[in-house]
Amino acid sequence: MTDADPTSRPALFDGPIDLHLHSNRSDGTEDPAVLVERAAQEGLGTIALTDHDTTAGWAEAAAAATARGMTFIPGMELSAKDGWRSVHVLAYLFDPTDPDLVAETARIRDDRIGRAERIVRNIGRDYALRWEDVLEQTDPGATVGRPHIADALVARGIVRDRGEAFDGILHPRQGYYEAHYAPDPLTAIELVVAAGGVPVIAHPAGRERMTDATLRRLIDAGLGGLEIDHRENTAEGRAWLRGIAAEHDLIVTGSSDYHGAGKPNVPGENTTDPAMLQRIIDRGSGSAPVYPVRGR
Ligand code: AMP
Ligand code: FE
Ligand code: FE
Ligand code: ZN
Repeated sequence: MTDADPTSRPALFDGPIDLHLHSNRSDGTEDPAVLVERAAQEGLGTIALTDHDTTAGWAEAAAAATARGMTFIPGMELSAKDGWRSVHVLAYLFDPTDPDLVAETARIRDDRIGRAERIVRNIGRDYALRWEDVLEQTDPGATVGRPHIADALVARGIVRDRGEAFDGILHPRQGYYEAHYAPDPLTAIELVVAAGGVPVIAHPAGRERMTDATLRRLIDAGLGGLEIDHRENTAEGRAWLRGIAAEHDLIVTGSSDYHGAGKPNVPGENTTDPAMLQRIIDRGSGSAPVYPVRGR
């Protein structure tokens, strides 16, 4: 009998775990490697990259993380909507080549472009903003969203920061808003499960809280967990979620939703229990965690 390979999986995860961070492959402001550097500065031991509707940053983030002695969990935040409510489905350890999921994320990303152009056209009737301004704020190939329009409004001197843009011009009530295509949450969860992934509802008790009935339907469809410790979940909402998680033995996560300079969220401001990450790993079968090379 030989000893287990010391370069493979650690007995337990070293350091805090943050399973929800964004790079400039979607609406974060930093390259994946820079984001990893920032996470390392905050002392994190394990991170997941969860860009909206894309896996484009995985390779860069995984290489940077393991080089720094951190564990990398492949992830994504899949856009969905329940009527007018936007629902974000975090997905972990799914197969990034799954044809159905690849087709669906491509459709969402593509539709987000036309939608962003329509929003900019609407805003352009009242403010000096053009589509080129948004392109200047968007990395090539990145998933386009309102945050990029916000950055363009900042660059034009129309608002001070993303927060002011979202509270004002980009708020649906202001009349410039347009929606983009997204699957309903049930379909989103089925897609993630079929791709071997573990679906976790992101910030389920924030501003756009889903109903109890919807949540129960998603659990029946294979929902793996709930992101409870997140700055946008209200205290009362967290209590509601903890009750449901206990009742259905769901995985519970906590995370920062870091977006670089685009939001005040700091890597590691909320973290996930190692036992919960272990449950995600035991359940995910479409891709694998990337562990650091040890003993350096
Ligand atoms: P979209 O999916 O294009 O409608 O844009 C929603 C994204 O905007 C979310 O993923 C958030 O990361 C970001 N966002 C929402 N509210 C704010 C805010 N107040 N400040 C900065 N970013 C925000
Ligand atoms: Fe975002
Ligand atoms: Fe989200
Ligand atoms: Zn997010």
